[in-house]
Amino acid sequence: MSTQKTAIVTGAARGIGAAVAKRLADDGLAVAVLDLDADACADTVKAITDKGGKAIAVGANVADDASVQAAVEKVAAELGGPTVVVNNAGITRDNLLFKMTVEDWDAVMAVHLRGAFNVTKAAQKYMVDAGWGRIVNLSSTSALGNRGQVNYSAAKAGMQGFTKTLAIELGKFGVTANAIAPGFIETEMTAATAERVGVPFEDFKKAAAAQIPVNRVGVPEDIAHTASFFISEGAGFVSGQVVYVAGGPKD
Ligand code: NAP
Repeated sequence: MSTQKTAIVTGAARGIGAAVAKRLADDGLAVAVLDLDADACADTVKAITDKGGKAIAVGANVADDASVQAAVEKVAAELGGPTVVVNNAGITRDNLLFKMTVEDWDAVMAVHLRGAFNVTKAAQKYMVDAGWGRIVNLSSTSALGNRGQVNYSAAKAGMQGFTKTLAIELGKFGVTANAIAPGFIETEMTAATAERVGVPFEDFKKAAAAQIPVNRVGVPEDIAHTASFFISEGAGFVSGQVVYVAGGPKD
């Protein structure tokens, strides 16, 4: 029997999720590259398999319970029971409170919070059975408050409470749960924000970097490195923590 561990990384077609998926494959895990559209996962899967790693594309909407259940069963059948989960899928629907629709509130809650709940709940039995598991949830510096993101900041603060409770409930089964709270990371998500506020992305990044102590914006690999630490064998006594990966103490 193979001793290779299996990870599910959600929202892994691009951005931070793609970098995390590739890094976990480099770390020796088989990786389920999960995103809304399985075809969109092809580049991430190819990057892994080209280097000799093992990966499959899985199409699922994390907000949908039945879709997640089917996806996790497929992963277990094709790669083995998932004992590592990285809840990374995310969306933004920014607006000031007085202009925000209830649909935009619900959409953000559904992907971040219900999504992380669905995937973690479906995968936890494999971790409990194995007596070992690693859960990594994507929070954000926006959890501390960010103008125009009342839905997103509430969801990202929620991810921190979710993480801490998972750590308490699952610790006795050898499972750790931790959160990464990125600051500004260069991805399509931040590019879309620049477009929304009408600033060229290069100028937007430059302005952001000027406010960051290490004097640069983040890249997806900065987050992948932190995820790699949390899922490592040696991090078994680190649980319920939130690490701000933001080039300084906050955004
Ligand atoms: P991104 O480039 O927009 O990628 C997000 C991925 O999630 C996309 O591939 C998207 O698919 C997928 N996704 C969206 N809804 C989904 C759903 N319901 N089910 C499955 N997959 C879904 O975002 P990113 O910048 O890499 O961000 C990744 C995570 O880090 C998010 O949780 C985000 O909130 C968090 N984060 C990002 C930053 C930053 O500066 N970029 C900072 C703090 C936290 P589609 O392409 O089909 O929509």
